[in-house]
Amino acid sequence: MFDKNREFEPFDSKLWLSSPTMHGTELEYVREAYQTNWMSTIGANINEIENQICQKTGCKYAVALSSGTAALHLAVKLAGESLCKGKMEGAGSLSGVLCACSDMTFAATVNPVVYEGGIPVFIDAEYDTWNMDAEALEKAFEIYPDIKIVVAAHLYGTPGRVDEIKAVCEKYGAVFIEDAAESLGASYKGMPTGSLGEYGCISFNGNKIITGSSGGMLLTDEKGAADRAKKWSAQSRENAPWYQHEELGYNYRMSNVVAGVVRGQIPYLEEHIRGKKEIYERYKEGLKGLPAGMNPYDEENSVPNHWLSCLLIEPEGMACQERGDCDTLYIPEHGKSCPTEILEAVSSIHAEGRPIWKPMHMQPIYQKRAFVTREGMTKADAGKGADGMLLDVGRDIFHRGVCLPSDNKMTAEQQERVIEVVRACFE
Ligand SMILES: *Cc1c(COP(=O)(O)O)cnc(C)c1O
Repeated sequence: MFDKNREFEPFDSKLWLSSPTMHGTELEYVREAYQTNWMSTIGANINEIENQICQKTGCKYAVALSSGTAALHLAVKLAGESLCKGKMEGAGSLSGVLCACSDMTFAATVNPVVYEGGIPVFIDAEYDTWNMDAEALEKAFEIYPDIKIVVAAHLYGTPGRVDEIKAVCEKYGAVFIEDAAESLGASYKGMPTGSLGEYGCISFNGNKIITGSSGGMLLTDEKGAADRAKKWSAQSRENAPWYQHEELGYNYRMSNVVAGVVRGQIPYLEEHIRGKKEIYERYKEGLKGLPAGMNPYDEENSVPNHWLSCLLIEPEGMACQERGDCDTLYIPEHGKSCPTEILEAVSSIHAEGRPIWKPMHMQPIYQKRAFVTREGMTKADAGKGADGMLLDVGRDIFHRGVCLPSDNKMTAEQQERVIEVVRACFE
């Protein structure tokens, strides 16, 4: 438990979970956009970053968009198009189509499926990578053979078991969409994440590994798909003297100003990843001996970008903690702690942590949807078994895990202070 009377010196200015790390070069490209008056959704910055991201990921085509969520939306539309040819004139083109989605993730992985009328089936996470469990995915196909699309995220920059997931997709003829919003620069068996599915989506949101202040990209190897996404993103104008429309359009294209920020950041991707890895290793070392471990990854097959460093408390190290829909309580106990206590302790020194992504099957909006674990359980809210044990992996990691301050501008000394505070939680 954390002794609230113990004095830890708070940071003068807040230590963020993960805030933009800027370098100055961004301003040059933004200024260039301004001076040449390419202030709209066309320009050299957009062209340049599309090329650079293609080179970095090995994808043939990249389409710069206003957000990662927009990229996921267009990816879902493209996947739907190959399923129901010729019926894409409206919204809701996935009406009634079952889509298997990561369960423990940010809601933006899943919402685009619902924008199109698709029905999400949530797939439990696995302990080894915290990502979609391929065995649970297989179970889901056994129960719901009509699943047509699989959307899987690489959480916190840690690649999931892509080969196993792809094998299941191929076996059942489903389209695989990769949500690589958090994992730009991470790789799986030597291949960059974002390039491993039919469609890949990345994000340049302010808290991601590199940023454009906002923005995202759709990645694909199909020219036709890239062309259609680009057209849809710019209101679906046909080639005509007036505004001629055959399809529903969206205002999803990236601004050349935002692209300038991204262009200034891309050269620093590797440096950011090195910094995040040092943060992860420092936590790993500094928190040794506690009844807790860092977010794991497949060391043999993957290289994460270590976007966020997270701690998972072992069951023996957990103080009693209960979470309602919007509130939480715990009972302090010597020698143990819990995410709520760690978040409070870290916050008391003016640093920002965050709970693990609350699984989708526990969210009021999605609670009634199907949810499939390794055991094949499909009740959306499986909860606790008779012995009080948590029954699904996502719920368990949400219960015992916590994201620690992972900002690249955090100094080693600052991080040592965070480590001291986290250690004090277990005294
Ligand atoms: C950030 C994020 C998104 C959405 O990206 P935006 O650019 O913020 O729209 C989607 N999925 C995951 C897993 C994310 O972390």
